[in-house]
Amino acid sequence: MAVSHFPGRDPLALVPEDCGRGHACQFCPEEEQCKLDKGQHEKRLIESRLAQIGQIIMVMANKGGVGKSTVSANVAAGLAAQGYRVGVADADIHGPNQSRFFGFVGQRVRLGKQGLPPKDFEFFGLEHPVKVGSLAFMMERDDTPIVWRDAYKHDFMHHLIGSFDWGPLDFLVIDMPPGTGNELITLADMLEGHDVAALLATTPQEVALMDSLKAVRFCQERGMPMIGVVENMAGVTCPHCSGHFHVFPRSHLADALAAADVASVAQIPLSLALSSGSDTGIPIVLSEPEGPEAQAFAPAVDACVAHAKAGFADAAKQSLHGLAQASLESDELEQALGAVPPEQRDALRQQLESLLGNSNEPS
Ligand code: ADP
Repeated sequence: MAVSHFPGRDPLALVPEDCGRGHACQFCPEEEQCKLDKGQHEKRLIESRLAQIGQIIMVMANKGGVGKSTVSANVAAGLAAQGYRVGVADADIHGPNQSRFFGFVGQRVRLGKQGLPPKDFEFFGLEHPVKVGSLAFMMERDDTPIVWRDAYKHDFMHHLIGSFDWGPLDFLVIDMPPGTGNELITLADMLEGHDVAALLATTPQEVALMDSLKAVRFCQERGMPMIGVVENMAGVTCPHCSGHFHVFPRSHLADALAAADVASVAQIPLSLALSSGSDTGIPIVLSEPEGPEAQAFAPAVDACVAHAKAGFADAAKQSLHGLAQASLESDELEQALGAVPPEQRDALRQQLESLLGNSNEPS
């Protein structure tokens, strides 16, 4: 238990003091003089952010350049187009590209009392802006290379979740760095106990596939639910003859996914609109919602919604069961049953018990 060094407010120091600042201690101008427990502060900061976030989706790939950022941006934008409150956390330290996908290149954020404000991406028809948080907003220049030891990367993952003032969100999409290294482990540890699921981006060729299966295994070993795989660059439509062909044959991908018990949720074509779209600053699902690329992303967006809804229904059922169980065991219920005529009491109790039994079964 941390002990407060501020006298007067909590004499037994049973509750660690909190300065109430919405950012991590490293950003604080008073850090050097501060006597509060910094570890506790950081932990509570992260917990307070996460308490306002519904479903977290980690977009993973075990290989760079397979379209992970493209998938993150378009899935996030697709969710926002359905009216959800969405944030995009750019955890790709060495290639923080979300600022580019959402048109914020060169922009910076200033630390406020409530932490780092994410950038609000507004677009016609969106009920809520997409909130974007990225290391790119904190760098001196866009072309500064990040040469960090693991301890800094670890700290940044904490800032990304705790120091950005995300506010209430239905979905937080995290664009992960490639691989199953330090950043993934740090975030997986930090988010344990929250609604986190993985969405895997891969290209269908064998070399990417083998790497992707490592990410699948990571999730399975951590017990992290997997929404499925987005196959990127899966097929091309010839701009001249409109013929469709595959650059990377996908038969072995389908077999490997089935063997690993992972669903393919979307196949995104290799397309000129997508390769140039990343520079326009508007995700293609918003700029061309009727186009083939947006249609291809739609099942991935729906799979994320379905996963979140199933999780929510499950949690609601469990809490209903807990409430009903507590009431059944409490005197109040017995008192209430006491008011029921004796000949009906047993039947009513049985009905309640069977209702509780049913609420335990999966729908
Ligand atoms: P990652 O995040 O895995 O490194 P990106 O999403 O940044 O990959 O994509 C790498 C490059 O490939 C980007 O320039 C992007 O615009 C392009 N790209 C991604 N997916 C496609 C696609 N389906 N068709 C054409 N270009 C794509």
